[in-house]
Amino acid sequence: KTGFDVAAVRQDFPILSQQVNGKPMVYLDNGASAQKPVAVLDAMDRYYREMHSNVHRGAHTLGDRATAAFEDARETVRRFLNAESARQVIWTRGTTEAINLVANGLAPRLKEGDEILVSHMEHHANIVPWQMVAERTGAKVVPIQVHPNGELDLDSFNSLLGERTRVLAITHVSNVLGTVNPVAPLIEQAKAQGVITVVDGAQAVPHFKPDVQALGCDFYAFSSHKLFGPTGIGVLYGREQLLEEIPPYQGGGEMIERVSFERTTWNTLPYKFEAGTPAIAEAVGLGAAIDYLDSLDRPAMEASEKALLARANELVETVPGMSVIGTAPNKVPVMSFKIEGLHPSDIGTLLDQQGIEIRTGHHCAMPLMDFYGVPGTARASFAFYNTLEEVDQLFTGLQKIQRLFA
Ligand code: PMP
Repeated sequence: KTGFDVAAVRQDFPILSQQVNGKPMVYLDNGASAQKPVAVLDAMDRYYREMHSNVHRGAHTLGDRATAAFEDARETVRRFLNAESARQVIWTRGTTEAINLVANGLAPRLKEGDEILVSHMEHHANIVPWQMVAERTGAKVVPIQVHPNGELDLDSFNSLLGERTRVLAITHVSNVLGTVNPVAPLIEQAKAQGVITVVDGAQAVPHFKPDVQALGCDFYAFSSHKLFGPTGIGVLYGREQLLEEIPPYQGGGEMIERVSFERTTWNTLPYKFEAGTPAIAEAVGLGAAIDYLDSLDRPAMEASEKALLARANELVETVPGMSVIGTAPNKVPVMSFKIEGLHPSDIGTLLDQQGIEIRTGHHCAMPLMDFYGVPGTARASFAFYNTLEEVDQLFTGLQKIQRLFA
């Protein structure tokens, strides 16, 4: 398809055409989790109706079908990320598990005095696993500062990247601010010092395609459910040599080559990191989500998302006392905000009464909330299926709330 017909695209997402609280639903909580096109629902349904069995057992036809569907999905993800090989695509439960896997895998390389650089805008999923590993190893988690407008402070990065740095773990896009971080040059600088680089792509992939080879990162993580696929599955991409070197995360079936009480050996990549029966239907669903996205005109879709953010930015001044947190020039369509005299959770509740679904709270980014001196924010996060009318409805809703309650 060329051009971007948002009305047509919305037909692909049955959940969007319903009412909540007696009003047509306006779904603006895509950053928390995105909706699923029929293509994904059908692919998973068809998988269960026609092919389900356990994978990699080689015992019968149905098992072969399930295995083929499962491995096709892995190849689809490889293509999406532009990874060199499907061996580098590891299924996890999501971004959180992917980062825990890497943090645990790198633990044996960390010791007292080593530093793990993260940023002040990380999601807890890219802070806490490192803190847990730091606790065990004596390493330290050090945050790169951010500017008040939500951009990463590159001077802070330059001054912190040093002899003690072992890992740079950074988000590609902030879930609160929408900031797109300049990860490629940061990775290049870190690599020049032998630092291992980990990118949290959870909020990037719904808006643009990452190219892991161009980025040059060692690890890249994302979740299917934010990429219009099912919950319960995500991906860890890793540099092959590092994946070979780091120990498995969990033990069990599937991840072994041979087990004996004397000595157990690991399976080849990627299975070494996939203990137990995997989320097969979910992998198939994620593959279908990526195929669906590939059927859309990407440049037109990205332009449409930019227009949503531009409209939202224009309308901010129509709500007295409203201010936006995160105004970096390069950002995805996410708007965190506060309104004087209103608690974020009240904004959320009052919008919900009008059928408008947003997220409020700390967004699993408490250090960032502390930086801005707020307990939380209200956040509208847009997807390609949102319309300019929906942006207008959000602001009409906010104007009403502000008039009546602020
Ligand atoms: N990182 C970022 C930037 C996120 O936005 C999220 C989800 N809110 C996560 C990590 C964690 O993803 P998941 O809960 O799917 O593991």
